[in-house]
Amino acid sequence: MATVAELRKTSELIDRAYKFAERAHEGQKRRTGAPYFSHILATAEILAEWGMDEQTIAAGLLHDVVEDTDVTDNDLQKEFGKEISGLVNGVTKLGTVKYRGDKTQADNLRKLILAMAEDLRVILIKLADRLHNMNTLDPLPPEKQERIALETMEIYAPLAYRLGMQKLSGELQDLAFPYAYPDEYKWIVDNVKERYEAREAYLKKLKPIVEKALEDNGIEVLAMDFRAKRYASLYKKLLRSEMNLEKIHDLVAFRIIVKDIESCYGSLGVIHNLWPPLPGKIKDYIATPKPNGYRSLHTTVFGPDKKLVEFQIRTAEMHQEAENGIAASWAYEESKGTKTYKKRRAARANLKEAAWVEQLRSWQKGFADPEEFIDAFKIDFLMDSIFALTPKGAVVDLPAGATPVDFAYHIHSDIGNQCVGAKVNGKIVPLDHVLESSDVVEIITQKNKKPSQSWLDFVVTSSAKAHIRNALKNTSKGKLLDTKAQKIELKIVVEHRTGILNDVSSIISRSHVNIITLISGPRDRDSYHVIKALCDTDNKDKILKIILKLKTLKEVKEIDYRFV
Ligand code: MN
Repeated sequence: MATVAELRKTSELIDRAYKFAERAHEGQKRRTGAPYFSHILATAEILAEWGMDEQTIAAGLLHDVVEDTDVTDNDLQKEFGKEISGLVNGVTKLGTVKYRGDKTQADNLRKLILAMAEDLRVILIKLADRLHNMNTLDPLPPEKQERIALETMEIYAPLAYRLGMQKLSGELQDLAFPYAYPDEYKWIVDNVKERYEAREAYLKKLKPIVEKALEDNGIEVLAMDFRAKRYASLYKKLLRSEMNLEKIHDLVAFRIIVKDIESCYGSLGVIHNLWPPLPGKIKDYIATPKPNGYRSLHTTVFGPDKKLVEFQIRTAEMHQEAENGIAASWAYEESKGTKTYKKRRAARANLKEAAWVEQLRSWQKGFADPEEFIDAFKIDFLMDSIFALTPKGAVVDLPAGATPVDFAYHIHSDIGNQCVGAKVNGKIVPLDHVLESSDVVEIITQKNKKPSQSWLDFVVTSSAKAHIRNALKNTSKGKLLDTKAQKIELKIVVEHRTGILNDVSSIISRSHVNIITLISGPRDRDSYHVIKALCDTDNKDKILKIILKLKTLKEVKEIDYRFV
């Protein structure tokens, strides 16, 4: 990939952004004493390395000018146009997002997610910025180091993973781990170092055997190496295995890069011919890629002395994608000559991106308040995932620890509500059975069945929990409704602004009407939001008065009401 210095020669835009940012940050210093511009340049270099388009690299160069210099958004718009200033603006907005491990930051985190859904390139600039900041964390005071490190562990590394940028995600975690969890880090270093060395020595002996076997079978190997598992991910895995190092088989794994897909499967056969595979550990992520797009074949075999060895086999293209993920979809087409940066957005990458953003949007719609949404986001979205399959082969992405009931609700709330049993890989299992990746799950349903209270004890996805609670509530409420008064639901379409939900709810409560539930979310296809307020009254006159008062809010566009 070209460096920023090289790109300045071919891209007038990048050159102009470079000069503009250099002038704007002139005289500013980082805490290390280095000129501030060194951080700017490093961020842009990272984006260039990922092969980002020229707009993103230019915005990377400009990413701190609005926040840290006299340059205004207006100046930027005049000088560089809407696209660039929009990207910089997005990054500046994200700068206000700070994770402190508590829920008061929920609304800010929501902003982050919304910004992301608008233009993912904003997130990529932010990730490049964060990667450089994590590399230069040392001179900061300890509390700040810890906060930034935790934020990186909890928000940015999982986001990078979600975008398919596994290498970046791993790097961020490794950089953050010693600052975020110093004691745990020390434990790992003390306990693992020797084992790592022993494992590496063992694999070194195996390498020529594998190379020769592949060569004898006419498989051309582009690269073969073994990589120690990163400390941060090792620690996470240890937490799931009672801190028992003996249970971790992939401390160091082989990675084989071959030229095409046939060679991948060919290599797998050759390796299984050398050493018997561990049943259940053969993973075909080529036929069934992970939802983040990751493709590879994985297997674990009993090597010499019955030691377990993990292999990962993929093509060069898959490798590139595994490392750079979604960034690859903006990659610069070098063959097309000097100046043509293109938003290549290969069809597949684009689809992946679209599905991901769509999932975010639909998730967001389902949640009433930002805190609940953020909790769900963190649990459902950022936690370690497993990938179960429907009998037809569709991939269902679930958090680790998910059960058939989580699976059922993920497919459809009716399937969840009517679930009476489940088969995993053809065998009947209890409903609290913990699913594993590549399990084929079949849900057995029965009409008019209701979920059971006890399910709440084992489901892990917040959407399943919400659906179960809802179904339980409806059953008891249904009975009450027969004898009790009706309620009125207000549906209010508004132009969204911060605080509008508060204004609406205070108008209703000032009229001495209790609100039972208040839900707000964006309306499909336009920028309006819909607020639904279930009011504990059957007095139509009261509601009509409330409607008149609500209409005095200039953001309110339409109001409907109905008896429920
Ligand atoms: Mn920065």
